[in-house]
Amino acid sequence: MKGSGREAAGTLVLDAAEPGAVDLAAAVLRDGGLVAFPTETVYGLGADGLNPAAVRRIFAAKGRPADNPLILHVSGPEMLGQVVREVPAEAGALMREFWPGPLTLVLPRQPAVPDEVTAGLNTVAVRCAAHPVALALIAAVGRPLAAPSANRSGRPSPTRAEDVLEDLAGRIDAVLDGGPSGVGVESTVVDLTVEPPAVLRPGGLPPEDLRRVIPALVIGAGSEAGPARSPGLKYTHYAPRAYLVLVEGPAEQVGAEIRRRAAVLRAAGRSVAVLAAEESRDRYPGERVVILGSRRDPERAAAALFASLRDLDRSGIEVILAEGIPRRGLGLAVMDRLERAAREIVKLEEDES
Ligand code: AMP
Ligand code: MG
Repeated sequence: MKGSGREAAGTLVLDAAEPGAVDLAAAVLRDGGLVAFPTETVYGLGADGLNPAAVRRIFAAKGRPADNPLILHVSGPEMLGQVVREVPAEAGALMREFWPGPLTLVLPRQPAVPDEVTAGLNTVAVRCAAHPVALALIAAVGRPLAAPSANRSGRPSPTRAEDVLEDLAGRIDAVLDGGPSGVGVESTVVDLTVEPPAVLRPGGLPPEDLRRVIPALVIGAGSEAGPARSPGLKYTHYAPRAYLVLVEGPAEQVGAEIRRRAAVLRAAGRSVAVLAAEESRDRYPGERVVILGSRRDPERAAAALFASLRDLDRSGIEVILAEGIPRRGLGLAVMDRLERAAREIVKLEEDES
């Protein structure tokens, strides 16, 4: 198929702002093809969510384990009837408040939803993303799109079209380039088939906001404590090629520990980068420092997280020493991703020296 876009190893790269680009992408999807598209959280890898063969191609392209279910993306609540058996009152309230937005709801599934999407579960995860290109694309296809993050399984999620191509060029039909994703971490997944409703994965919508609508909401399987109700959470995730060490604790001590480790590593000939909050910029003289937002502004940290990890990989850095940030607001999602990306987690206590 020839469009206005360029090609990368056989994958068509479409500028979402070009006339006809969304319609061309929709045609590819209706034919059972794979198209990566921008959402406000990260880029998704879309397929016709009601076509089992198309959905299987997502798993093949990503190298994703078949028992990790996919999110179905809809263009609005009016599309839910095709995939969801019932919408509990609390789900309706969340949709009115937060859709379109970075919120995925786990609901009872319609039998028409392919088992490939749900990994055989009797529930289905649905989301309406707040991105004009995503909404236009789903509306043009006229069917829900199954769309996990558009990365090779286990890698940091893509927040730019170039990140999608780095992982998937030649493995998917097209990518719609809509510029960088603004939120930077994936959607918050909330299970509404349990009582009380539970956050299965922290993400772009902070639990503080959700609790305004559902005060009883618990943070469930996403924490180490709970059982793995969200199957995807048991897999390694978001990992850069570099060996990432996450250091948490009082800022002074974190700074001292990272400086000590950086010196040892450098003496051993390793290339090192420090992922630090704005407030810590001056703690690491002589080190390569990448600023990841600020302790007071976790939204900036979320927006920069995956792009920073990918950029450090591209520059060949061997070890990343990352400061923890407070688990407030989007800080919870940022810390969840850093913990899953880390090969080593160091927790320093206030009273240690
Ligand atoms: P991804 O598409 O890579 O952002 O991952 C989707 C996340 O949603 C994974 O953690 C899945 O395990 C989770 N998920 C999808 N469908 C369900 C479901 N029916 N029940 C629970 N978790 C789900
Ligand atoms: Mg993913």
